[in-house]
Amino acid sequence: MVEPLDIATPTRTQAILTSYGLRAKKKFGQNFLTDLNIIDRIIDTADLSDDDYVIEIGPGIGGLTEQLARQAKAVLAVEIDPEMVRVLNDTLSPYDNITVIETDVLTVDLKNIIQKQWGQVPAVKIVANLPYYITTPILMQLLQAGLSWDTMVVMMQREVADRLTAPVGTKEYGVLTVMMAYYAQVQLAVKVPASAFNPAPRVDSAVVRLQPKNHPYQVQQPKELFNLVKICFAHRRKSLWNNLLQAFGKDAEVKEKLTSALAEATIEPGIRAERVDLENFYQLFLALKAQNIKFRS
Ligand code: SAM
Repeated sequence: MVEPLDIATPTRTQAILTSYGLRAKKKFGQNFLTDLNIIDRIIDTADLSDDDYVIEIGPGIGGLTEQLARQAKAVLAVEIDPEMVRVLNDTLSPYDNITVIETDVLTVDLKNIIQKQWGQVPAVKIVANLPYYITTPILMQLLQAGLSWDTMVVMMQREVADRLTAPVGTKEYGVLTVMMAYYAQVQLAVKVPASAFNPAPRVDSAVVRLQPKNHPYQVQQPKELFNLVKICFAHRRKSLWNNLLQAFGKDAEVKEKLTSALAEATIEPGIRAERVDLENFYQLFLALKAQNIKFRS
């Protein structure tokens, strides 16, 4: 089969932008992928097959979208920029398995849209070259949307990828690492140079793979657990004990409760939060709750 001309090459991408009189918009984090090898590696990482239903965030001019559509059963792409949607109506017209929705991914009910578009489908895959200015809010939105998903493969700023995948005890390990670890197994898959994009971003990039975690934690409101983690990391160089005192107060009764909760969770009060893994934060959370210590949610 003769494939339509690939969008994600340096010349075709520039030609498309020029012919529509468009420039990449900073305010929407637009950096278009122009390296088909990187796109192949994204698709390999997502392990796409023709049974797969794929959600793409931010299709831009469609460079990644068309390659997804060639491998998957169907693609649903969410794009905020009406000017991009106008381009996509042309560039993606050869494909009948792509639906583009013009909306802000941060405000949309994706579960509902998937249901309306595809009805009951198996777990979806999420693949995206994310707008870097809202990487974390988008990831949290996707992870908390109650979607049935089996793989997420997302491009982001390298520095954020390093934080997501940081081992305990490193300087990159922090609130974001623990929040991601709550929802997913996270793996750094591909390092991507700035030269793979038009325009080249000022930072290096990386593709991260997330897979849902079947963990034993029973947390009704994960935000409460995350608030505790934020409290513990409030001052990175301070001990866990000092951060907890600062948040919950220093009177004798609170001190006693904190001491026994830390003992229950087998955490040494003098250590810093960067040495505490998700499992220990969870144990501390349960122990503090049992002591009737209140968290914001
Ligand atoms: N997928 C294209 C590619 O790889 O060449 C473009 C990726 S570009 C880094 C990010 C895309 O996300 C842009 O098309 C941008 O307009 C879109 N975007 C930015 N903010 C968005 C939002 N809140 N909701 C949906 N799309 C958004």
